Amino acid sequence: MAQSQNPMSWHAAPRSQVTARLAKGQLPHALLIGGERGVGKRRFADDLAHVLVCEQPLGEDAVPCGRCKQCELIAADTHPDVRHYAPEKSRMIKIDQIRALSAFAVASPQVAQRKIIIVDRADQLNINSANALLKTLEEPTADVVLLLLQETGRPVLPTLRSRCQSLIIATPGVETASEWLAGELDQEGTKITATADDRRQALEMARFAPRLALEYLTGDYLALRREALDVFRRFMKSEVSVSQAARPFKALGAETTLWLMEVWASDLARIQAGAEGRDREAADMLGFLAGVNPPWRAHELLDAVREGRSALVYNANPELEAERLLLQWQGLMPVRRRRPSQAH
Ligand SMILES: [Zn+2]
Repeated sequence: MAQSQNPMSWHAAPRSQVTARLAKGQLPHALLIGGERGVGKRRFADDLAHVLVCEQPLGEDAVPCGRCKQCELIAADTHPDVRHYAPEKSRMIKIDQIRALSAFAVASPQVAQRKIIIVDRADQLNINSANALLKTLEEPTADVVLLLLQETGRPVLPTLRSRCQSLIIATPGVETASEWLAGELDQEGTKITATADDRRQALEMARFAPRLALEYLTGDYLALRREALDVFRRFMKSEVSVSQAARPFKALGAETTLWLMEVWASDLARIQAGAEGRDREAADMLGFLAGVNPPWRAHELLDAVREGRSALVYNANPELEAERLLLQWQGLMPVRRRRPSQAH
């Protein structure tokens, strides 16, 4: 999907915190940018990188001039002093990537006054990568700024955290989120046919993280997710085998599977606590399970999701992890009573 150009208005407040420090010459060399999945952390970091290399940012809000050499290179997506380091194949950031990062950090900038390093995401570093990155953070060169992204709820090593200033991008309210989403969907060339109900549901599922809601409405995510929930229901009733049930989850990918399982398990905990779940489509099934299980079962499931995340760090088989979680869910179904005809 093409990078959206619609401004994310909820970025204005955290952004002005940074530009105020920049104006005073107090920009920290490392920022840890946190926020829920789908609030646009990467976009925030990219926009900030642009400001930090522009030769003449305009006004109090430090808007990139759009005319200098740096702005041209950013627009062409070929700026040599801005680099991204992200997990490959939605796993972890590897040590080789951090070695490349460290070499880049000590080299002189090629065209800008400083180099910008974006680590997307700092909560997906394995222990070796994190330790290697720590060295760069401990001995920063004057002309480098590190922007580390962290998804809410995913831990970053305390040693890394302590060497960064933290900045949180808050999730916008429902109106702001809907407005942005509508703007994206109305964009010329976007061929997404989402009904008003689809939009509302995507926003609710994304807990009003607009970028995530958009992701739900594009591609085959919604269809795959429906299929996964449908087969999950049938698996709970022992209508399909665990390997059949795992198939649509495999298509969704390990990260999304774990995330969905986490949403359902925390919805189960919410319903048991008397609140409403976030995923309306799963509400009937979760409501039923909430009524026949003690509250600790939901927390056991949340632990299992966490274990699944750690297992994937060590290259566990994602399909087996999905099956393991599905079986654990099935354990929440009441044992079927014998039919009267079988009782004798
Ligand atoms: Zn510029």
